[in-house]
Amino acid sequence: MKRIQLGNTVFEGRNDVYLFGDDTGPTTLVDTGVATSEGREQLRDGLAEYGLSFGDVDRILLTHWHHDHAGLAGEIQAESDATVYVHEADAPMVTEDDMNHVAEIEERSLFERWGVPDEKAQELLDFLALHDQIQGRSPTVETFTDGATFEAGAVELEAVHLPGHAAGLSGFELSDGEDRELVSGDVLLPKYTPNVGGADPRVEDPLGTYLDSLARIIEADYARAWPGHRDPIDDPSGRAREIAAHHRERTERVLSVLRERAETDAWTVSADLFGDLSNIHIMHGPGEAWAHLDHLERQGVVERTDEGYALLDADPDLDAMFEYGGASDEAPTESATTED
Ligand SMILES: [Zn+2]
Ligand SMILES: [Zn+2]
Repeated sequence: MKRIQLGNTVFEGRNDVYLFGDDTGPTTLVDTGVATSEGREQLRDGLAEYGLSFGDVDRILLTHWHHDHAGLAGEIQAESDATVYVHEADAPMVTEDDMNHVAEIEERSLFERWGVPDEKAQELLDFLALHDQIQGRSPTVETFTDGATFEAGAVELEAVHLPGHAAGLSGFELSDGEDRELVSGDVLLPKYTPNVGGADPRVEDPLGTYLDSLARIIEADYARAWPGHRDPIDDPSGRAREIAAHHRERTERVLSVLRERAETDAWTVSADLFGDLSNIHIMHGPGEAWAHLDHLERQGVVERTDEGYALLDADPDLDAMFEYGGASDEAPTESATTED
């Protein structure tokens, strides 16, 4: 496996594209980077280092639908006839031009549910209108589900469905007979905590779903993870525990906001947690606050009211809510609302 690093100045963090295949197997990319002229040139240059061009790609596996991962898939497919594979839950977001963040948010009246002020909603819509220009050309896709396998020369890649950040987010487990490693997309990142709640409005109980995915990673005990951004993670289980601890700590902060204010909405909680937000964070901040409130509601800790949410249980049993990320787990050193 080769790692091709892309700059990606549009979103935070460098994108990684992974290249598989040799004389005996199909040339396979996991993810493609963003459809900007810079992203395109960097991927072309990265492939050229291995004597390859877009036209040589036989197969593209997408970890999820976000534009910084799927952006160039359609363009590469147009040059190479590559088969593009994506989890069935994310296929509509990759193939249909009218499926995007905003349409999904509006369909669910989430701005209203989250309490986003009109001027901030407009600021976000203006930002996303630009964002959609880098969506890239839509590919035709084949879908897969958990457990699907793909031969790529000396290694086999097995799809591992790890939803939360996106509904169809899938890692790919590598086995070469010895260590098990995971190409992890945005389910596990080395620096930031992947956004849940705002990054894919279609996910049911985004926090609970994501915590289940972290548990699956912890229990699989991979030797290494190859994330969608930045550098490899040498202790994936440890990193998953850190992220779980971060969410437990965030839940504690949400509870303390609720103790101070009788009733509150996701926007207000978000402002308390993250301060003033602009561009994509207008979606990720309240989205993440809402993911916590929604999860607390499912656990019977809060109830929905006309004004947002109110506490039912001021001192819930967090050990029961967080299987991992308890006091013995080390807290992460840095947290941010987002990595798209
Ligand atoms: Zn990403
Ligand atoms: Zn993402």
